[in-house]
Amino acid sequence: MNTQFPAERILLGPGPSPVPARVLRALGAPTLGHLDPQYLAIMDETCEMLRQVFQTKNALTFPVSGTGMAGMECIAVNLIEPGDEVIVCVNGVFGGRMKDVMERCGAIVHPIEIAWGEVFTLDQIAATLDRHTRTKLVGIVHAETSTGAHQPLAGLAELVHGRGAMLVVDAVTSLGGHELRVDDWGIDAIYSGTQKCLSCPPGLAPVSFGERALARMDARKTKPQSWYLDVSLLRKYYLGGGGGRVYHHTAPINMTYALREALAIVLEEGLVNRIDRHERMYKRLRAGLEAMGLAYIPSHSLHTLNCITVPAGADDAGTRKRLLEEYGIEIGAGLGVMAGKAWRIGLMGHGSTVRNVDLVLTALREVLK
Ligand SMILES: *Cc1c(COP(=O)(O)O)cnc(C)c1O
Repeated sequence: MNTQFPAERILLGPGPSPVPARVLRALGAPTLGHLDPQYLAIMDETCEMLRQVFQTKNALTFPVSGTGMAGMECIAVNLIEPGDEVIVCVNGVFGGRMKDVMERCGAIVHPIEIAWGEVFTLDQIAATLDRHTRTKLVGIVHAETSTGAHQPLAGLAELVHGRGAMLVVDAVTSLGGHELRVDDWGIDAIYSGTQKCLSCPPGLAPVSFGERALARMDARKTKPQSWYLDVSLLRKYYLGGGGGRVYHHTAPINMTYALREALAIVLEEGLVNRIDRHERMYKRLRAGLEAMGLAYIPSHSLHTLNCITVPAGADDAGTRKRLLEEYGIEIGAGLGVMAGKAWRIGLMGHGSTVRNVDLVLTALREVLK
């Protein structure tokens, strides 16, 4: 196998998504020092663009070094102290991971588990809050990439705040692809990743913390067990303030260039247009898949990830292998309990185009003949 030159795949899986040439060129700009005033200005611009994309005024909005999971861990280690009671909504792999991560922080987790592919109702969450009145935080996945389920968030913050808890949201596969309004929806802490609907290579995890989350961190009696992800240290670098910018760890300089360029592309297109494009491409793909007799698994599908049943008699791994080898198209296999039973077709960011939708439909039709 030739390993010298990575192939130009068409990435239509659960991430990473295709990266525009502009973003790859930005990655190759000269590496600055992490305290160089020019770099700090670039970081400030990047954080400001992240606020626009998250639709928030939260000052504490920045890219954590690491992939989406680093964003999840960053929020968990900073907002949870050992013994805290939390509720985690589990309807797929990523809700399950959130439960695991929060337990590792010492939380007493009360999971709400429903069938994979289903979404939570406000009543289910309210009933669990009623049973566990000391709950400090509710964690939920907006876009469950393992099942393609799109979790509605309307009214959830009001419910959670009314019981004195905070709302934490995983937006790894929704930021830049689905409507997501951090301030209007009352989300207290949120994390995402660069390689899904922002169409940047993997390596940074945008996060944002609101007032309630700041107050919780200020009230901590114990230090977060992760030094690397301790926001009280990170904010002295990312936000500066009284003591100026203080070195914590060397920021991934070139990844910041790439993220800034990816965010510039998002804002040039406009959030409304971008979300509308994801919806139109989803409808186009769905119509084509259903016309071929392929069935969607989730009751409430994402526009960014299409999870369908592997049809009876089809060879799961063989089909994906042929798509990759003959068409250069990557789609995702089923994850967790859906392994061998589902295919996941991502239409994320730069990948969500008429050309890709029609290409994957044609290729699937040929391979499944
Ligand atoms: C991809 C994903 C993650 C993890 O992100 P990594 O970049 O793989 O670390 C977390 N949550 C959801 C919903 C995801 O889709």
